[in-house]
This record gives sequence, structure tokens and C-alpha cells, in this order.
Amino acid sequence: MNEYCYWCGTRANSKFCEQCGIDTDPPADVYFLDEECGDCSAKLPRWARYCPKCGRRFGVYDPSDPKNQKEHNRGLAWGAAFWSVVIVIAAILIPTRVGMAAFKYTIPAAAVLLAASWAISLSRREQGTFVDGTVTRLYTEDEIHRERVAYETARTGRRVYHQVPVTVYCTAVRWDDGKEDVIRRDCIAADHIQLRVGDRLRLFKAKQRYQKL
Ligand SMILES: [Zn+2]
Ligand SMILES: [Zn+2]
Repeated sequence: MNEYCYWCGTRANSKFCEQCGIDTDPPADVYFLDEECGDCSAKLPRWARYCPKCGRRFGVYDPSDPKNQKEHNRGLAWGAAFWSVVIVIAAILIPTRVGMAAFKYTIPAAAVLLAASWAISLSRREQGTFVDGTVTRLYTEDEIHRERVAYETARTGRRVYHQVPVTVYCTAVRWDDGKEDVIRRDCIAADHIQLRVGDRLRLFKAKQRYQKL
């Protein structure tokens, strides 16, 4: 049993918070982000505003905060720089191995990849934009996924596939700009545990991450 409600911070006396109604002791599914409290290192449920063990209050991500923007954009720039180096090295190494004529192909290919990697970084720059929306429907879909079994090979040497039944947890959202989305998660019930129809969500566009409001 947790000490505090991770959503509103009141002392938790029962499984469902008396103040806000949230499940104060949610199943492991809700903890899949692997975040920890900086004070007591308790594992935190997704979107936690308070530590469920020590009651510490956390700040909510603010995309308009210059510090957050700087951090996010610096990470992107480092990522793009890393891939640029990898691409350039490959474009030089491949021709020296397979014959200098290969430069004719590797240089244009490298140029395209460099442009693409920087374009992706630019498009993901944090500019403080987000959109809010309302959960309109929660439903599940049953799908059959075809998964290869690595350790099993048929006597004929062919690969073996299994038909795996998968539950897809779908959350339909109508964003305030009029667009609609269905967030789909295979086998992860976290959204259905934490959200109800009518709940408000915020989507941070640069991070492509959403959270309950
Ligand atoms: Zn609460
Ligand atoms: Zn804590």
C-alpha cells in the first residue's frame, strides 16, 4: 500500500483516493516508465505529481520553460552530430574498401542522409508547443501477431512462427485543434487504468509525449 496519492498528494487510506478517486496502488503496468523519486528512490507511476512513498511534489514538464527547451534541443543537436559523424565515416570508409569509384554513390547518399537527419532534428525542436484534448473512448482490439520464435527451428530448417493473440489497448482522443487520434498500445493497459472518458490530455508536440492533466 502506498503512503500518498500520486495524483493529488493526500495521504492514502484506501485503494482509491478519497480526494480524487485515483487508484493509489496501481498495478505494475502503470510504472513502466521506470522513473524514480529523487528523495527516496521509490518507483513512480507514470505522470506522478507526488511521490507515493514520501509525498514529495514534482514539477510538471513545461515546454515553454527556456531551460527545458535548451536541454531538449541540445540533446537533439548532439544526436544529429553523432549521426553526421557516423554517416561521413561510412561514406569515406566504404569507397576505400571497395574501390574509389564508390565515392560516386556514397557521397550523394551521405548528403541525403545528412540532410534527413538534420531535418528530423529541426522538426523535433522544442518550441513550447502543445495541444490539449479530451479522451472520447477507451476500447480494446484483439489482434493476432505473427512472431518468430528464435530458439525453435523446424526440422526442415525453416523458421517457426507462432500466432500470438495480442490485446491492443486503444484510447481515442479529440484534440482541441479538431484532430482526432487513437493511441494504441499492445498489451499495456496503463492508459485504461489511468484514464477515463472525459479526462483531459496534453500532447507535447516536440517530444511526441502525452500526459494526463
Ligand atoms: Zn488523490
Ligand atoms: Zn519519494
